[in-house]
Amino acid sequence: MYPFTYIKAKTNKDAIAAIGSNTNAKFIGGGTNIVDLMKMNIEKPHQLVDITSLDLKKIETLSNGNVKIGALVRNSDLAYHKTIAEKFPMLSKALLAGASAQLRNMATAGGNILQRTRCYYFYDTATPCNKREPGSGCSAIKGYNRMHAILGTSDKCIATHPSDMCVALSALDAIVHVEGINGERTINFLDFHLLPGDTPEKENVLQQGELITAIEIPSSSFAKNSTYLKVRDRASYEFALTSAAVALDIHNGTISNARIALGGVGTKPWRAKEAEQSLINKKATTENFSAAANVALKDAVTYKYNAFKPQLAKQTIISALQMIGGNNG
Ligand SMILES: Cc1cc2nc3c(=O)[nH]c(=O)nc-3n(C[C@H](O)[C@H](O)[C@H](O)COP(=O)(O)OP(=O)(O)OC[C@H]3O[C@@H](n4cnc5c(N)ncnc54)[C@H](O)[C@@H]3O)c2cc1C
Ligand code: SF4
Repeated sequence: MYPFTYIKAKTNKDAIAAIGSNTNAKFIGGGTNIVDLMKMNIEKPHQLVDITSLDLKKIETLSNGNVKIGALVRNSDLAYHKTIAEKFPMLSKALLAGASAQLRNMATAGGNILQRTRCYYFYDTATPCNKREPGSGCSAIKGYNRMHAILGTSDKCIATHPSDMCVALSALDAIVHVEGINGERTINFLDFHLLPGDTPEKENVLQQGELITAIEIPSSSFAKNSTYLKVRDRASYEFALTSAAVALDIHNGTISNARIALGGVGTKPWRAKEAEQSLINKKATTENFSAAANVALKDAVTYKYNAFKPQLAKQTIISALQMIGGNNG
């Protein structure tokens, strides 16, 4: 590790000012990702701005029924919050499928959105990696790529986005609230993360020094009938090979609204809108779920060690939809 300074901000404005235009400064929330990256010399901020004293720890229901989650709400508190567990079960389940109890007690909502990929080569500073060292090459494309993405990849990077929570947020059309030197703004969650393209080091649309202050989840008719299913190599403390966050609004056996988002397969949390559309006005049957799963994976591009992923992802979608498909409203 290397020397760096540390300050603890008391207000949003202090935190934002402390980062300012200094590209060598970073916020620290729970620290469960940034500290690992610093220890491994992957990220080298010269200044850490601790934001854990900021007043961003509330979960509140707004007058329009939307739920606003402070950026510093810990993953466990969010998962077990009554409103979240009842109104957005997919989000609660996605959070509880992530990491371990200890990590969830530390990790914050804002930090979770910004966690970086778990591509082995990204963490191995002895190997080329365009995301870590732009222009150095991608070791995964011709290397060991079993956990890598099959949707949204480029010839510069095929790393998956690792977050479980983000898959649910993508299905729920969440809105990210941010604050920076130029004031406050909101970003639709689906626009927040970027595809790797030619610049895999640029992962999101945040501007220099912007602080995530909250995540807002719109009220909806479908979110109550939702779930999150994660397939992984072991039952806990493991990232997804594939996962699906799904929701269905069903009336008299016919689907009026559907949400499907995927994890473990995309270079960003992957929303399958075309697959959702294919379910509208259809019966909630395994045959229709299967057809939707085929639509969701139709553009998949596989690599040497992850050719199993499209079929596994399809089965994950079908199984998740079957889990909620019987709850006719
Ligand atoms: C062993 C292990 C297993 C894991 N398994 C899973 C898993 O299965 N599924 C899963 O989804 N996750 C998993 N995680 C990742 C974990 O969920 C993330 O590390 C965590 O959510 C990050 O939150 P944090 O508050 O600790 O972020 P930090 O480490 O504090 O910060 C992460 C990044 O976000 C920035 N940041 C933090 N808060 C803000 C803010 N409010 N505004 C702007 N920038 C901010 C920081 O500058 C940093 O760049 C695992 C982690 C570990 C170590
Ligand atoms: S997949 Fe992306 S993160 Fe992994 S080695 Fe290639 S460029 Fe780096």
